[in-house]
Amino acid sequence: MADYKAPVKDMQFVLDNISRMPQLATTERFADATPDMVSAILEEAGRVAAEVIAPTNEIGDQQGLTLEDGRVGIPQEFGQAYQQFAEGGWGSLQFDPEYGGQGLPYSLSIPVMEMWQAANMAWGLCPLLSQGAVEALYLNANDELKNRYLPQLISGEWTGTMNLTEPNAGSDLSVVRSKAEPEGDHYRITGQKIFITWGDHEMAENIIHLVLARLPGAPEGVRGISLFVVPKFLVNDDGSLGERNDVQVASIEHKLGIHASPTCVMAFGEKEGAIGYLVGEEGKGLACMFTMMNNARLAVGLQGVAISERAYQQALWYAGDRTQGKAVGHKEAGPILRHPDVRRMLMTMKALTEAGRALTYDACASLDFAHSSEDAAQAKLEKARAAYLTPIVKGWCTEFAQEVTSLGVQIHGGMGYIEETGAAQHYRDARILPIYEGTNGIQALDLVGRKTLVDQGQAGTALMSEMRATVEAAAGSARFASAAQALAAALDVAQASTDKLLATGDDPLFSASSAYNYMMLMGTVCGAWELLRAALAAEQQQAGGDNDPYLESKQLTALFYVDQILPRHLAYAPMADAGSEAILAASDEHLESAFS
Ligand SMILES: Cc1cc2nc3c(=O)[nH]c(=O)nc-3n(C[C@H](O)[C@H](O)[C@H](O)COP(=O)(O)OP(=O)(O)OC[C@H]3O[C@@H](n4cnc5c(N)ncnc54)[C@H](O)[C@@H]3O)c2cc1C
Repeated sequence: MADYKAPVKDMQFVLDNISRMPQLATTERFADATPDMVSAILEEAGRVAAEVIAPTNEIGDQQGLTLEDGRVGIPQEFGQAYQQFAEGGWGSLQFDPEYGGQGLPYSLSIPVMEMWQAANMAWGLCPLLSQGAVEALYLNANDELKNRYLPQLISGEWTGTMNLTEPNAGSDLSVVRSKAEPEGDHYRITGQKIFITWGDHEMAENIIHLVLARLPGAPEGVRGISLFVVPKFLVNDDGSLGERNDVQVASIEHKLGIHASPTCVMAFGEKEGAIGYLVGEEGKGLACMFTMMNNARLAVGLQGVAISERAYQQALWYAGDRTQGKAVGHKEAGPILRHPDVRRMLMTMKALTEAGRALTYDACASLDFAHSSEDAAQAKLEKARAAYLTPIVKGWCTEFAQEVTSLGVQIHGGMGYIEETGAAQHYRDARILPIYEGTNGIQALDLVGRKTLVDQGQAGTALMSEMRATVEAAAGSARFASAAQALAAALDVAQASTDKLLATGDDPLFSASSAYNYMMLMGTVCGAWELLRAALAAEQQQAGGDNDPYLESKQLTALFYVDQILPRHLAYAPMADAGSEAILAASDEHLESAFS
């Protein structure tokens, strides 16, 4: 099995050339993000990911979890890795120094987070969820709650969870039934939550649950939902841990992948009611949770990139090691890496992964600029840009992760289907990504609804103008002129599809039927754009005398993507016309006839 090696060079290149880290470092707020600091963080995180966390990945998959006497047992190695993670301050990079954070850019925490997810996705979900809990509290809680919970969540002494889903409330959270009864300065929470990631464990001293519940007499639907913070152990005024709260893990799920991530059924208030504290205003729970979920959606898209990178490294190693047959142009049998079809698969894995990395980092950088820009109009544009890209990052990167991890199995031949090589684990682990944090169907509806129809296509059009600027720049390069033409043609299709959505905005059935394909169309086109930007930067650096083979590889990867992957946009585009009609024609009666 291949070891994981963090792709530090590519990460650094994307930060410098795509996600504008040098520009961010000129702002007062992020002046600490100097090139030396950025590269020291990436190098050290890469070491921890490779040496401490990655070796726990297979162990977790094989051992899984136990539940005895209401206590979740995790592999011992997970706890040791977590301790090193917390001691290294790795959970605090992007948070406010007032609560113990390091005040670095969010977009710098992203490559670091990618490393944890690539090293061990089941383990990495724990810090990912804790980060979401910090964001939700930081943006919505009052000072008392912030002072009580944030420092330990940021330091990693405690971990956080997100409790939304109930048996009857999955994609539709408006029907959440858990209850919160006021009692003095707190509330008593009762209800059952399902599928709660890292809902219980003993890796950290305390677990801070963020829970959606309804107050007595609250209106039906979304407006009746509030957000509460419910600690596993109550926290005394002096910060020490008090009594065990009335929240228990009822069971853990047996899953296709991420075997060592405890996915828990949580029982709140089976005895006297779990003590919880209101976060934000009554009835605004879902809005508060969305602040957390927006970044979590980007983080899940990032998981798609991370697991793709891991699968690619594994496949590349195997393709260099496995000898089979004489490749075209070779007299002797040699590694399968030489076969053009294996190269096609490897390049597809590489190109999609690098395109997704650039797009994800770029979207996250917009959030940093939105927060640090002194120009209010510019900050607004950056915010809209990040909002538009968020469902694309979540949806497209997690969809291609299915393809990339499947190709990883394919490159291993029969050995890919056998667990020992590890290729199958990546494929199984990746399968959750299009489902949680809002299924990709829901992401697509968000892109088409709130991000395109509601804003009259402004954010999408602004992004396409950026892409046209790249087309113009690439047209001046002999090597990339035809790639520029291909991207320009794809942009015409993307614009026509956007216009069509806007023109049919009063027909929700049409937009709902086209949404997924529109999301995949935009993801495919954005991927080509980001790789072309990277290729132009690489070409320029090469022309300046830098002979690093990485620069050549970056350019070849972009050309491969434009040739082999960009044409897929055409398969998604017609859905804005005839294909959607076909979906509409597949009426309830037609589908239900299978049961009659
Ligand atoms: C391993 C794992 C970890 C999880 N972790 C957490 C967690 O930590 N916290 C938490 O709260 N939840 C968690 N979840 C729950 C997860 O977010 C939900 O499973 C997800 O939101 C989908 O809800 P559902 O399973 O009820 O599917 P459903 O909502 O029943 O959806 C089923 C299908 O119908 C489609 N569908 C539903 N409604 C619509 C619609 N309006 N338009 C178009 N299509 C639609 C969906 O896209 C999907 O394909 C986790 C789930 C798993 C499996």
